[in-house]
Amino acid sequence: MVDELDTFPPEPPADPEYCYADDKIAEEYLCEVCRSPLQNPVTGNCDHVFCEKCIDIESNCPTCNEKVSEISKIKLKRFLALLDKIKIVCKGCNQEMERGEFSSHKELCPLVCPKECGLIISRKLWHYHSSHCDRMIKPCTAAEFSCSWIGPKAELEEHIKTCPIEKLRPAFDKVRNESISYVTGHKYECSWRNGKLHGYSYSYSN
Ligand SMILES: [Zn+2]
Ligand SMILES: [Zn+2]
Ligand SMILES: [Zn+2]
Ligand SMILES: [Zn+2]
Ligand SMILES: [Zn+2]
Repeated sequence: MVDELDTFPPEPPADPEYCYADDKIAEEYLCEVCRSPLQNPVTGNCDHVFCEKCIDIESNCPTCNEKVSEISKIKLKRFLALLDKIKIVCKGCNQEMERGEFSSHKELCPLVCPKECGLIISRKLWHYHSSHCDRMIKPCTAAEFSCSWIGPKAELEEHIKTCPIEKLRPAFDKVRNESISYVTGHKYECSWRNGKLHGYSYSYSN
């Protein structure tokens, strides 16, 4: 048996990160606070430029020490386009690209299956692969009827053949269907009674 008990369905792997390909990035593309290339650039009343997350209203600009009483988004398209042209390297696959391409690359970035089945998939397909990978840890199909077996998908089929609880499924299903029709039947009876009590408008609105 397996000692590892995965969350099921498995969490998708975290998004890849990136770093900058070149460490000599022109000064005008750097945030005055974090000194990295600007992310969602904003400007204060002093005209210095910051990442949106790096500056708060009422704080002081680290460069000129003026109090920031107003923050506005930079709308200069040419400047924003230049920021998106900065070369980065995806930490997931070491591929070099422009920063503007990264958000769509994240989905396609190749991912080595963390279950070591030997496949390399694109992140977008992770969800599909996670339910088909032979190494993925899965619960028994009769888990809803409290079979506690859990193991690699490759062994699940073998287990189902011998699972005593799965064998009882037709009986369980019968009981369940009967109790469902009892519950719905009971509900109809109740609303019929309510209709009688409160008049027909009530039963219409229900
Ligand atoms: Zn910053
Ligand atoms: Zn300033
Ligand atoms: Zn990548
Ligand atoms: Zn796999
Ligand atoms: Zn089972």
